[in-house]
Amino acid sequence: MDIKCPICRKPTTLGENRWRPFCSERCKLIDLGKWATEEYKISSQTQEEGNLLEEETIIPPPTKTSPR
Ligand SMILES: [Zn+2]
Repeated sequence: MDIKCPICRKPTTLGENRWRPFCSERCKLIDLGKWATEEYKISSQTQEEGNLLEEETIIPPPTKTSPR
C-alpha cells in the first residue's frame, strides 16, 4: 500500500516501513520536533531554567581524602 509522507510528501510504503507513516527517521523526528516545540511553549519556564542550571552550576567534586 502506497502512502505519502506527511512531512516531505515523498511516496512511501506502509509495508516494510518502520518509520510509517513517515518515509524515514528524519521525517519522523521532524514531526516529533514539532510536538516538542509546542510542549515547550506550554510548559515554558521550568524546563529552560533547569537546563540553564545544569549548564551554569558546575560544582567541582569534593577532593577525596583517602581514609588511611
Ligand atoms: Zn518524508
